[in-house]
Amino acid sequence: MRPNSREYPTFVTHLECSFTGERYEAGQIHGLSREGRPLLVRYDLDALGHQLRKDDLASRDGGFWRYREFLPVTQSQNVVALGEVMTPLIPLSKTGEALGGHAASVIVKDEGRLPTGSFKARGLALAVAMAKELGLTHLAMPTNGNAGAAMAAYASRAGLRTTIFCPEDTPEVNVSEIALQGAEVYRVNGLINDCGKLVGDGKDAAGWFDLSTLKEPYRIEGKKTMGLELAEQFDWELPDVIFYPTGGGTGLIGMWKAFAELEAIGWIGAKRPRMVAVQAEGCAPIVKAFEDGVEHAPLWENAHTAAAGIRVPVAVGDFLILRAVRDSGGFAIAVSDEAIFDAQARVAQEEGLLLCPEGAATFAAYEQALATGRVSPSERAVLFNCATGLKYPMPPVHRALDRHQPIDYAAFA
Ligand SMILES: *Cc1c(COP(=O)(O)O)cnc(C)c1O
Repeated sequence: MRPNSREYPTFVTHLECSFTGERYEAGQIHGLSREGRPLLVRYDLDALGHQLRKDDLASRDGGFWRYREFLPVTQSQNVVALGEVMTPLIPLSKTGEALGGHAASVIVKDEGRLPTGSFKARGLALAVAMAKELGLTHLAMPTNGNAGAAMAAYASRAGLRTTIFCPEDTPEVNVSEIALQGAEVYRVNGLINDCGKLVGDGKDAAGWFDLSTLKEPYRIEGKKTMGLELAEQFDWELPDVIFYPTGGGTGLIGMWKAFAELEAIGWIGAKRPRMVAVQAEGCAPIVKAFEDGVEHAPLWENAHTAAAGIRVPVAVGDFLILRAVRDSGGFAIAVSDEAIFDAQARVAQEEGLLLCPEGAATFAAYEQALATGRVSPSERAVLFNCATGLKYPMPPVHRALDRHQPIDYAAFA
């Protein structure tokens, strides 16, 4: 098959229910499948593999739009870009050595460098571009902060209207950022799933389209670019283990899909990283389901953790997360908030890298997994820092200096 020639090379053949495999037509507006499960975009990978060479990527811009053949947008006018970059891989050299490994054995992929300061930019850039392509004009979503900020920014740039519901304990900076980037944002006295219900219930009366995690097919495609990018950065040899802070799990599911597509076109072999889903002890539905050996994770009651990005008590894609984790030989692991903030402080002080709490959770999980032998120091581990640490409250500073008083400079020595 020749690439769909609607101006932008695309290889989409159809969409598919992730649970039943039922086919859905591309080029139409879709939410969940008839079964109430996420839809996955399928491509003619044979044609894609013939059309595109690894070398073709070399001359392109650094951001995730460089992988356009792997993406569903058919017309370049629908691409919404805000200066995306290829996010850097930063080895934690001191930490790697101190933990008994090689200096390059633990590496942070710093997603905080993306527009709006988090990896939500990847998923929402694609979801918004496809919304524009499909003629939608009003988008809504529940958010713990970063997804809403990314949706607001990309949608405003694309000229689409947005309505956003946040749990009331969402940090001020996130709510303000969302509002300033053009969304109509509301604080709601409830959790993310309560906000999600408002979006679903209001659909008909308000006429908005539900852009909730995995309830439309394209955020996964955006998050998939993390896997494509990682493979390219590792010169098409994937790392041994990936620690991923798991809320709705879009990124973990997306990377797993990326690896399958890359293998299908012959760019990588069959070797896969072990996928590790990291959650907080106060909200660990995937960890519990993993340990219980089941495919679905029941709602986690009284979810609490300061790492808001992974405070997701129920995930529509639970079975997809659990399948990827199990098929890869990985595991799911929970860490305490205390361990998260301790890890955040140590990495910032020893390595000069400010992680967000969810990113710090992957470091705490890595240390815990090393200590219990679930991961060996000789394995190459990638930790996802999913957002800039600057968007989160930080510990207060109490030291002050009165310049009008005598100063004992020797005390600084
Ligand atoms: C959304 C988010 C996560 C969780 O990502 P998923 O792919 O939805 O599991 C983790 N950390 C931060 C900072 C986030 O914004």
